[in-house]
Amino acid sequence: MPATADPWDVLVIGGGLAGLCAAISARKLGASVRLIESAPSESRGGNARHARNFRAAHGAPAWHSPGVYTADEFLSELRKASAPQFDEGLAQELIADTTGLASWLMDCGVRLQDPRVGVVPFSRRTAFLLGGGKAMLNALYQTAAGIGVVVGYGAEAVGLADRPDGGWSVEVAGAERQRIAARCVVVAAGGPGADPEWLRAHFGPAADGYSIRGCAYSNGHAMQMLIEAGARTVGDPTTCHIVAVDARGPRFDGGIVTRITAIPYGLVVDRDAARVDIESHDVGRTHYARWGPRIARCPGGVAFLILDAGALERAAPTALPAISADTIAALAGTLGLDADALARALEAFNAERSGRRHPLSGPPFFAFPMRPGLTFVHYGVAVDERMRVRRRDGGTVATLFAAGMIMAANILRSGYLAGLGLALAAVSGRRAGEAAARHAAG
Ligand SMILES: Cc1cc2nc3c(=O)[nH]c(=O)nc-3n(C[C@H](O)[C@H](O)[C@H](O)COP(=O)(O)OP(=O)(O)OC[C@H]3O[C@@H](n4cnc5c(N)ncnc54)[C@H](O)[C@@H]3O)c2cc1C
Repeated sequence: MPATADPWDVLVIGGGLAGLCAAISARKLGASVRLIESAPSESRGGNARHARNFRAAHGAPAWHSPGVYTADEFLSELRKASAPQFDEGLAQELIADTTGLASWLMDCGVRLQDPRVGVVPFSRRTAFLLGGGKAMLNALYQTAAGIGVVVGYGAEAVGLADRPDGGWSVEVAGAERQRIAARCVVVAAGGPGADPEWLRAHFGPAADGYSIRGCAYSNGHAMQMLIEAGARTVGDPTTCHIVAVDARGPRFDGGIVTRITAIPYGLVVDRDAARVDIESHDVGRTHYARWGPRIARCPGGVAFLILDAGALERAAPTALPAISADTIAALAGTLGLDADALARALEAFNAERSGRRHPLSGPPFFAFPMRPGLTFVHYGVAVDERMRVRRRDGGTVATLFAAGMIMAANILRSGYLAGLGLALAAVSGRRAGEAAARHAAG
């Protein structure tokens, strides 16, 4: 810890996965490190609390990651998922860093799941966290504290001012109201999207009906701070990853359990009980990501999934129970839909169903009300290979770094790959922390 009047070597803003990886990496290189986290300690950790697996390249099978998954394969899948303008050079470097990620995390106390035990799906592309994201975050917080990272909770960075020595003075609001001086600052505060006003400004009034699947604290205010400090933005603030979620779930932090995954088994109607469909009625694992934007375009941004008992049985378990009724008219009444219109939609739907696509023969009938659930926005600040923030007027800021979701749009301009969010957060966090510590050490 520095003497009272001295600046910290590295101040990390945000205690999610990226911030923790940055703080631990910087501290391991000998830097004095302070980490501030907006959330209270009981909800620390950002969106990784909801996450399960991270993507990592590996040239040989490991007990936690079967088979082989080369960096070239990773990159080519990223090319297919992301819009073409992404920074391919940076992507190659970060993908290369993922090869050592599993061991680095395990050295920090994180435990991975053995795919031969339990119920995780077979995956050579991603490793699953034993105990989920929260267990990983707890291990990393413990490691950080053990090596001397000083953590403050309920501490939101609200202002960033440069200092004559090239470092920064960060204004902190909340329980730890103060100014913190630091030689280098790593901003790992997540992407924008959890601020309802920001969402409305970019997605229109319909965004008021969106669920935010992650935490309310990753609100983009820190990103705005960087933009005001001259940072260049990348990506499109109106492009996002959005999935179908249970409309009865919470506005924030519903996580993965409110996702509706049974859509391929049933009939989807809008609030006028008119059938809603997408071009490819895909039963693949990520079909719900295509349904998210489709529901967002429905009148009022809502839709209803109708199932019968057989379809409900095929569906994965849900956090909230399905709404049930003995007749389709009664179900329509409960959902506030026109009963005749729903009956007609069901009849037309059943007339088309054959083979593996079962008709809905009920009763009883079941329903899930659905709305769009935002995972993240493809928008952030531009960084170089050391995660230094790029300026709008050219060049980079030597003492200001960005890691994690706040810079993910450099790599991912559209779409998503399972496990990419955690992988990017961890490897960019490590790079930023190491580069900041080295810079602070001169
Ligand atoms: C429901 C859900 C499930 C997911 N599942 C997976 C998965 O299985 N695999 C995967 O790879 N990815 C998954 N992701 C994505 C992944 O969780 C994120 O990409 C990753 O956690 C981002 O980490 P981060 O540290 O960059 O940002 P965040 O997790 O957003 O963390 C930012 C942190 O900064 C803090 N903060 C924000 N502003 C300030 C401020 N001004 N001052 C101080 N602190 C601040 C916040 O409180 C938060 O703790 C999922 C996301 C969601 C929403």
